[in-house]
Amino acid sequence: MNEKKSDTISIVVPCFNEGASIPAFYNELTRVFGEMDAVYELIFIDDGSSDDTLFVVKSLAKRDENVKFISFSRNFGKEAAMLAGLEASTGDYAAVMDADLQDPPALLKQMYAELKKGVYDCIATRRATREGEPKIRSFFARLFYKIINKISSTEIVDGARDYRLMTRSMVDAVLSLREYNRFSKGIFSWVGFKTHWISYQNIGRSAGETKWSFSKLLLYSLDGIMAFSTVPLSIASVFGLIFCLIAVVLIVVIVAKTLIWGDPVAGYPSMMCVIFLLSGVQLFSIGVIGQYLSKTYMETKRRPIYITRETNIENMEK
Ligand code: UDP
Ligand code: MG
Repeated sequence: MNEKKSDTISIVVPCFNEGASIPAFYNELTRVFGEMDAVYELIFIDDGSSDDTLFVVKSLAKRDENVKFISFSRNFGKEAAMLAGLEASTGDYAAVMDADLQDPPALLKQMYAELKKGVYDCIATRRATREGEPKIRSFFARLFYKIINKISSTEIVDGARDYRLMTRSMVDAVLSLREYNRFSKGIFSWVGFKTHWISYQNIGRSAGETKWSFSKLLLYSLDGIMAFSTVPLSIASVFGLIFCLIAVVLIVVIVAKTLIWGDPVAGYPSMMCVIFLLSGVQLFSIGVIGQYLSKTYMETKRRPIYITRETNIENMEK
């Protein structure tokens, strides 16, 4: 037995069809921990994969007792996987990492050293550039960050990755947010604590391909906006106010015109345009309200965020 107990770092790894990446990831991670004065607890979350992810993870767990796994009953999404992993984590520190080696394990050393100084509660990473990403995707990503930071009081950092190392108190704070519609980039920022950012160059996936299609990203960004801002809800009121003002002015103008020049036949085309415009604005506003309502509806159902099918962790009955 060591006299001085070294820290335990829990590594949470959401995996969706990552069977091909996991062995390389595991080797790299254990190599890095071999050079560190800390013990690892590796928690793989099999997010309803249809490949051999669970098999690969289980065989790792057989030879390494520090490897834990949670296997979901179906695909619940990366957010649910991160939550499950953080809930299961017991380390003094916890990190979230992708299984595809895009989040270099070697950085952990630097992150841990920085955290140990006790100044920060979290060391987070962001991409230095958007190199290697399709132009159109970068454009929309930038637009998203611009919009959300304008209309939300929670700061969402452009290019932030989910890769971060946190202290136990920050993890507990993150876990205390029990919302169903989870948007981690917002949650990590909302809980506060002192975060230090380090940038690194974007690296390509080691194997497999990205699980994010453009439409998945678009929906995710809308979720993010709705989870951290209610400004879209006020858009309806603003439109309503503007159109009321315009209507008052128009009424005055029309009444005056009628009194002075009589009542010629009103213009049908202009009338149609106004009707279309106003119904459009109304439907749009109702749509926005409907989106928030549907989120509220899902929250009030209090459904579990994920369902575990199999795990080697005790006390994980959810
Ligand atoms: N992931 C997941 N569930 C999903 C989608 C993705 O657990 O529904 C995991 C995936 O296996 C990977 C991480 O989330 O470990 C990030 O996904 P990916 O690498 O596809 O995203 P990118 O790095 O391209 O942003
Ligand atoms: Mg990736």
